[in-house]
Amino acid sequence: MDKKCICQETQRHFLDRAFERLKLKSEHRQLLLSSFRETRITVPITLRHNGDEKLHTFQGYRVQHNHARGPFKGGLRFHPDVNMGEIRALAQLMTWKTALVDIPFGGAKGGIAVDPTALNEIEREELSRRFCQKMAPIIGVHDDIPAPDIGTNPQVMAWMMDEYSKTHGFRTAVVTGKPIELGGSAGRLEATGYGVAHLAHKVATEMALSPEQSRVVIQGFGNVGSHTAIGLANKGYRVIALSDVNGGVMNEAGISIEQALAYVAENGTLTGLPGSAPISNADLLELPCEILVPAALEATITCDNADAIQARLVVEAANMPITHRADDQLKQRGITVVPDLLANVGGVLASYYEWVQNLQQFPWDRETVLRRLESRLSHAHDAVSILAQEREIDMRCAAYELAIRRVDHAVQLRGF
Ligand code: GLU
Repeated sequence: MDKKCICQETQRHFLDRAFERLKLKSEHRQLLLSSFRETRITVPITLRHNGDEKLHTFQGYRVQHNHARGPFKGGLRFHPDVNMGEIRALAQLMTWKTALVDIPFGGAKGGIAVDPTALNEIEREELSRRFCQKMAPIIGVHDDIPAPDIGTNPQVMAWMMDEYSKTHGFRTAVVTGKPIELGGSAGRLEATGYGVAHLAHKVATEMALSPEQSRVVIQGFGNVGSHTAIGLANKGYRVIALSDVNGGVMNEAGISIEQALAYVAENGTLTGLPGSAPISNADLLELPCEILVPAALEATITCDNADAIQARLVVEAANMPITHRADDQLKQRGITVVPDLLANVGGVLASYYEWVQNLQQFPWDRETVLRRLESRLSHAHDAVSILAQEREIDMRCAAYELAIRRVDHAVQLRGF
């Protein structure tokens, strides 16, 4: 089955299970499953390679799922596999995330089917600006606020903010995840990984796993994976394996994250990291460890490898890295999973803080951002944990129930 189907099927399964438990009426279910608007655009740009000029037409998407609780909110992904099905499932997930941490946003997601690494800086800028021009009618400070995701970064947000501001006046709050110089928030860049590390530590402590005893394996060393590694290493955990798209590296004695970051900055990859042995991305997931953090793409843990996972705790730093069948297999084997809508919610939470600072034109310092981030994450975790214990359900079920209840209530109050 291709990825778009797995994503939609997984999301649908988790939702149906929660709808059943909440005994939601079928018309409410239908409303919560439907997107408010699904936009598909073409983004033509001229690529110049080896003196050859050619017009390329890329497909761009924005799915605005639900805005009962506030403006649509969610990232923009530049990746070759981007398609409407995947974006739709990820947009829904954003609705549940923002509801779970109780910030006044709805859910959206967008992206372009493109390999950004195959473009040069000028082409990436043109693509970003073109996309923003075409999406301008449906985004806005109080309508829909994009942010970075896989394949995009603060520079892409800066181009989009500039493009939008050309026709709307200076509008920093139209996107989040911007460079600090342009209204970005201190702490936003590291927020997702910082939050993953905070929650992983909280749950590990509940499971009586101490940092000194716990071996950590992280798949993905992009923005989320690298900041998770920094966060966990700072708390005293031993990170024994890391990977990027090219493959993984491992060292049972522990990898110095500082050294890994310096090596990647110089070589563009983890491959060949001194003092480490190579390992494939597939084998890395099956390493004996206490904590496994999938921090790359969707559907990393499927029926094919779920029974080989040896971790005691899996923390979903990526969105939807575990398919629903694999999730059942892990549960049967007694492996605890911190679900994506809780584990990686630090990113959109810090985006909310950035938006608030932009609206107030009053920046906060990093300590304030991270203190507020930790406190809200802990609060969300505790609510999930209490409900899970009370009802004897897993954390994912509890998180979905809490989020869906909030969104459904808002939908009813507004009279959609
Ligand atoms: N792309 C991130 C996510 O999937 C952040 C979204 C945002 O900040 O709006 O949660």
